Amino acid sequence: MSQAKRETVRLMSYTPEWAETGALVKRELLSVLGNRAIEIAHVGSTAIPGMKARPIIDIAVGVRSFEHIPELYGELAVLGYNHRGDTNSDSQIFLTALKNRYNVYIHIVIHGKTLWNSYVVFCDCLKKDAETRQKYEQLKISLATRFAFDRRSYTAGKSEFVRRTLRLKGDIKERSCGAVVWRKRGGRRHYLIIQNRSGHNGFPKGHMEYGESEAQTALREIREETSLEVTLDTSFRAEYRYLVDGYIHKSALYFLASYTDGNFKPQKGEVYGIWLLPYEEALEQLDYEQDRRILRQAEKRLADAEAKSKK
Ligand code: ATP
Repeated sequence: MSQAKRETVRLMSYTPEWAETGALVKRELLSVLGNRAIEIAHVGSTAIPGMKARPIIDIAVGVRSFEHIPELYGELAVLGYNHRGDTNSDSQIFLTALKNRYNVYIHIVIHGKTLWNSYVVFCDCLKKDAETRQKYEQLKISLATRFAFDRRSYTAGKSEFVRRTLRLKGDIKERSCGAVVWRKRGGRRHYLIIQNRSGHNGFPKGHMEYGESEAQTALREIREETSLEVTLDTSFRAEYRYLVDGYIHKSALYFLASYTDGNFKPQKGEVYGIWLLPYEEALEQLDYEQDRRILRQAEKRLADAEAKSKK
């Protein structure tokens, strides 16, 4: 197929063959991925009965982690699924196939994280809401006319609609767990502050993986982000909520954690810096008031416990 041909945008009327192909692909992927796939979903316009679409079968595969997926590329290739690279700054593994004469795009993403949620929740919004479905179809028809030979502009035109729909109708929830990590140094309590990928200073924390308990997530994230083995105190729980990108309702839960020895090391690509600071300095470094509130609570809790133990 020539490059120019591949870039054209042509909408086709719905056919049940799309759902049949989606089901076939799900079965085949499951036979290779087994329980590494938490959930596999046919997403995108070809998953919406009655909707006009570019005849591409989009399949989202939600996995716990990407760790062992590359080992399966050989087996997937035997079934016709070819690895094309990683996209969205490494948060998606992309494969393609041709099944029942249809192009199939496989998006392997972390289950429960933003990309998984956007694929699945947007699709649910279209399935549930006739008005959104009609508006989306109208938009696609007008974009396909305007950008018949410019697939990129066609796709960009849809993105704003997807974001607005997720903001107004989606109910995307994400949860992260971590801890306020501390240790005594020179007789004073010091706290671990990390600068994470998005550039703000906070505490170690991260996405709660499918099947994990809150404490397991906190311990794993602290180990991954800092290399430290800590002792968790789950009797301290502090939680807050915030909105990411205007539509992801995120909650973060923090325990207390302490360690006595070991050196911290920032996780490559995820953590830009780690500092162990006395209380007042740690407080100054934090970017968000919610984090400062949690650090005050942690300091009070530890100071009270220390005073009590001296009595
Ligand atoms: P995680 O470490 O939980 O996997 P992440 O690294 O994907 O998460 P967040 O720390 O949730 O990302 O940051 C996503 C966005 O939310 C960033 O723009 C960040 O600045 C912002 N953000 C983080 N914490 C807060 C907060 N307490 N209040 C408001 N905005 C926040």
